[in-house]
Amino acid sequence: MTESSTGTVRVRMAPSPTGSPHVGLARTALYNWAFARHAALQGADATFVFRIEDTDKERNTQESYDSLFEVMAWLGLSWDEGPDVGGPYAPYRQSERSDIYSDVLARLREGGWSYDCYCTTDEVAARRLESGSKTMGYDGFCRELTDAQVEAFRAEGRAPVVRFRMPEGEISFDDLVRGTVTFHSDHVPDFALARANGDPLYTLVAPVDDAMMKITHVLRGEDLLSSTPRQIALYDALKAIGVAETTPRFGHLPYVMGEGNKKLSKRDPEAHLLAYRDDGFLPEGLLNYLALLGWSIAADRDVFSLDEMVAAFEIADVNPNPARFDLKKAEAINAAHMRLLSSEEMTERVTPYLQRAGILSDPVTAEQADLLVRAMPLVGERINKLTEAVDMLGFLFHDEVGYDEADVAKILDPTGVEVVDAARAALEGVSTWGHEEIESALREALIDGLGLKPRVAFGPVRVAVTGRRISPPLFESLELLGREKSLARLGSVPR
Ligand code: GLU
Ligand code: ZN
Repeated sequence: MTESSTGTVRVRMAPSPTGSPHVGLARTALYNWAFARHAALQGADATFVFRIEDTDKERNTQESYDSLFEVMAWLGLSWDEGPDVGGPYAPYRQSERSDIYSDVLARLREGGWSYDCYCTTDEVAARRLESGSKTMGYDGFCRELTDAQVEAFRAEGRAPVVRFRMPEGEISFDDLVRGTVTFHSDHVPDFALARANGDPLYTLVAPVDDAMMKITHVLRGEDLLSSTPRQIALYDALKAIGVAETTPRFGHLPYVMGEGNKKLSKRDPEAHLLAYRDDGFLPEGLLNYLALLGWSIAADRDVFSLDEMVAAFEIADVNPNPARFDLKKAEAINAAHMRLLSSEEMTERVTPYLQRAGILSDPVTAEQADLLVRAMPLVGERINKLTEAVDMLGFLFHDEVGYDEADVAKILDPTGVEVVDAARAALEGVSTWGHEEIESALREALIDGLGLKPRVAFGPVRVAVTGRRISPPLFESLELLGREKSLARLGSVPR
């Protein structure tokens, strides 16, 4: 029996709406989603919760909030409870849960689990320097203040932060990914639960919500590992005051490393999820790649579907070592998923890209749809991203050829133009406009007649008609473009 195989499983993704959604967020979402769906397959009552952690008013933006939903919709990972769909533990947006946090703060204080701290950051730093202590963070100075001390601080106009009283000793837990992890409380100072202005902090709200939303497994990035001992200690307090029933299991997913073996950061262009959509990745291609950042389905297998991942995903198989982000590999995996699409599916997927590029109208006209259906078998096998269809197909739909200037300069030199003229003369004599007839007329005139090598013969014709050196197969392209347009283009090349 596996970890997730019975009973109730509740996992969550809890992004903060700051900046543009990044790769780490999608990997966390994917692993949680797959964990829940796998547990459901095993018969568990499994739920994937989407919670928004927006208590940091200064850093949150509406744009970022919207893009979280946009990116999740694009990826196609669905959740069972969340700000948009609601659920039994609503609201799922922390900015709407302030009353809950105030209440929990009051109960923690009443139970003696927390205390007010009046120290400034400078005072804490100065004391640390003086004592020569190697321990980072707060020293517990305000743990046992007398009434007189409190009054004196108040008289100075100081407003206190609320700190949690960390217990002495070791805190150990069995991480679902890394096994036993132990922290000594010397290294975990009394941390702040709320700011001086009363605003609750992440350190409080994430565990409170995990408890109240009955989260059973917290699967999140390794960057949050250091907050786990605090959260585990806080859970004991939350249980004592009746907020939590149990402590969830934790699993910390490996770091994702970028260039130069540094942690992939929001500054790296390949970290931004919406850029993959705009660049023409398939969501299933990107998700397949993201799945590999810490997990694999089998030693010799990189390409798989989400259903296959769900069937096979075990959190215990996640590798704790940092994963390296490799854009080339992501592209190769995406290309493999492109190969799996039928011509109809490909048509459907490229349509919005062609519309955005102004190649197709919205809605698509019947004439465009017909041409697209006929063109797709020619490009489907040749493109590795959806955006490549834009470059490949523009010539068919535009009246004007969008010439690639570099290709024109290189290929349509005086010799190239002569080849184009000869091709035009030969094609004028073709009565049935099919790719086979076109091919034999061109071969006869250019290869047999002029003695040219195929590359020298067909390169200029291709650039003249499609505008670029890379296009769908030439003879089929001419057929699709039609006799009239083809001859007109061959007759009006830049000279
Ligand atoms: N809101 C946190 C973040 O975006 C995640 C918190 C968690 O998963 O515990 O980094
Ligand atoms: Zn203090």
